[in-house]
Amino acid sequence: MKRRDVILGLGAGTALTACGQPGSAPAVQTSRSKTFEWKMVTTWPKNFPGLGTAAEYLAESITQASGGRLKVRVYGAGERVPALEVFDAVSRGAAEMGHGAAYYWKGKAPAAPFFTAIPFGLTSWEMNGWLYFGGGLELWRELYAPFNLMPFEAGNTGTQMGGWFRQPVNSLADLQGLKMRIPGLGGEVMKEIGVTTVNIPGNELFTSLQTGAIDATEWVSAYNDLAFGLYKAAKYYYYPGWHEPGPTLEAIVNMDRWRELPEDLQAVVRTCCQAAGSRMMAEYAARNQRALKTLTDEHGVQVKAFPDEVINALAAATGRVLARITGEDEMAAKIYDSYRGYREQVSQSTAILEHAYLNARATADNKGT
Ligand code: CA
Repeated sequence: MKRRDVILGLGAGTALTACGQPGSAPAVQTSRSKTFEWKMVTTWPKNFPGLGTAAEYLAESITQASGGRLKVRVYGAGERVPALEVFDAVSRGAAEMGHGAAYYWKGKAPAAPFFTAIPFGLTSWEMNGWLYFGGGLELWRELYAPFNLMPFEAGNTGTQMGGWFRQPVNSLADLQGLKMRIPGLGGEVMKEIGVTTVNIPGNELFTSLQTGAIDATEWVSAYNDLAFGLYKAAKYYYYPGWHEPGPTLEAIVNMDRWRELPEDLQAVVRTCCQAAGSRMMAEYAARNQRALKTLTDEHGVQVKAFPDEVINALAAATGRVLARITGEDEMAAKIYDSYRGYREQVSQSTAILEHAYLNARATADNKGT
């Protein structure tokens, strides 16, 4: 009787495609029998340590957790579309999914950098607090909706380094006139203090720096920067990463393809993105120090702090850049309002929880306890 009910209700064709389980509930059978194959285009070189491998991990997780019903295949930068065309490709549906960083798209949506990192902004764990529990994710979805895109947090590198310089930076004057690769609002701020800035994708960095086409570049932190061999082209490696204190990586899904997914597969995508994000932070925490030691001990890299004069000038310029962006763009003003409110709040607990503890640990370490 059950089988006949299915046939009567949905037609013989549907019943026969239902994975050989004619007794299951018809509605579930229909959605679970459908499989999807997605292309994920990325802004990273294929399998690049940490970034490209995070995209692979996400794709494999989704494929496995969905029991193969949603198969995702990753394409590195340039394989299907160039790195900086990922947003457009997923928006128009040339690929179902993308992996990159929101601040690459500030030319399309001036507020996009708030969803990667802004200078002197949130750290990685503070950022996730804003996204998941402070209204950030909802604002991100609102920002991307006109582009037919659904965004997810899908990674975070933790605090980055300030960048590689061919010459030492002993003063603000040493920075002025340099040509540097630095994307996002960090680039706008550098421009404000007299640096010529460019945004070029990761796979072109080494050649640009080595040939002198640029004088300096930021990329990520030791783990990733070692992998690109940037130390062969510049020896001065500066901290802190004032411009990217906890940059979030994004996964984007074409909205039409997202709506096509049954609810359980949507949950798979959502949960796998969050898992990939958490895993990436652990990976960077574990691997950065090892890479930093290789850079200093084996490659003679000089690790230096930016002078206070430089940090102060960058902080002042950040205020001007944020005022300009939020003054010119309504969404940027709305998003910054939320971001700033959260930052003010969270800074107080970060000060007495994380910051005070790290100071205490440093004190204890110095005493040899
Ligand atoms: Ca960076």
